[in-house]
Amino acid sequence: MPRSVVTGGAGFVGSHLCERLLAEGHAVVAVDNLITGSRQNLKDLRRHPKFTFVRQDVTEDLRIPGKVDFVLHFASPASPVDYAKYGIQTLKVNALGTHKTLGLAKAKHARHLLASTSEVYGDPEVNPQPETYWGHVNPNGARSVYDEGKRFAEALAMAYHHEHGVDVRIARIFNTYGPRMRLDDGRVVPNFVGQALRGEPLTVYGDGSQTRSFCYVDDLIEGIWRLLTADRVEGPVNLGNPDERTIAEMAAIIQRLLGKDVGIVYRPLPPDDPKVRCPDITKARTVLGWQPKVSLADGLGRTIDFFKGTSA
Ligand code: NAD
Ligand code: UDP
Repeated sequence: MPRSVVTGGAGFVGSHLCERLLAEGHAVVAVDNLITGSRQNLKDLRRHPKFTFVRQDVTEDLRIPGKVDFVLHFASPASPVDYAKYGIQTLKVNALGTHKTLGLAKAKHARHLLASTSEVYGDPEVNPQPETYWGHVNPNGARSVYDEGKRFAEALAMAYHHEHGVDVRIARIFNTYGPRMRLDDGRVVPNFVGQALRGEPLTVYGDGSQTRSFCYVDDLIEGIWRLLTADRVEGPVNLGNPDERTIAEMAAIIQRLLGKDVGIVYRPLPPDDPKVRCPDITKARTVLGWQPKVSLADGLGRTIDFFKGTSA
């Protein structure tokens, strides 16, 4: 039976990933310090006989007894509000934490998969973004703790590959949404859904003309699984949904799906907020045979049902 270590396993994406790995027959060790994650996300997994939870900061010595076949490094604050609050923690988990997880993979002869991000492209001057685009990143701006942390993490993963022969996979994940996001994580989908459910106007930052492309979490997990298990993949792979929307459009769609006309209030655009973001997924289509399947309306519907069950 393959055994996987998932850092950030109590987070939004990490908990879905643990679930999928268990369903595929893996034994799973989730490591998480709960800085932005929650035990609640693991409530259905805790009783699974092949699941273990270790509460630990992965920037510290990471010792996992026994064999390990896959190390999936998903620990990192991911919402702009979270990484602004935990700037040093974000840099540390992407630098020191990536170092520790690569060291673990090297020692165990395991494959390593890094959760990177579309933020490595910064405020892109090319749209959509292919993996060959080097990005347009402010190295010391509001988002730099995250962007530069992930850029360093990618460089470190490639160095472990070249110097130590570690089999590394790099997923450049674009905006992903779905059940188990925190209602207060500050990202646009939980913000808008929470506001609409409470009957408050939606807070659109800037004029709402900036774009994002939203991928439903099940589609992302399928892409991660294929990237993890493919025989051979060179370099980073974009995983995201190329269905690009303006934020103003998202505000209208969410109100329509909820049948609520709560209106909009405009707030200042946060510094360095990217104007466009859309993945070129040609590589994922070609190398992994992957593309998203869940439409925005379906995915938002499932996410809204989840939030309705929480205390919006
Ligand atoms: P999340 O905040 O829900 O999950 C991150 C998890 O990592 C949390 O459970 C947190 O407690 C844990 N963590 C953070 N620092 C840690 C440390 N030092 N030691 C142990 N655990 C630690 O965020 P998410 O949206 O699930 O993102 C998961 C990963 O995917 C992140 O690496 C993120 O950069 C990447 N990603 C996510 C998206 C997205 O849209 N959700 C997009 C791009 C990349
Ligand atoms: N945004 C918004 N209102 C909100 C939250 C976010 O208009 O209440 C905007 C934000 O400025 C950005 C986009 O929505 O342009 C996506 O923001 P999010 O924090 O979800 O992720 P990002 O893609 O910026 O990392």
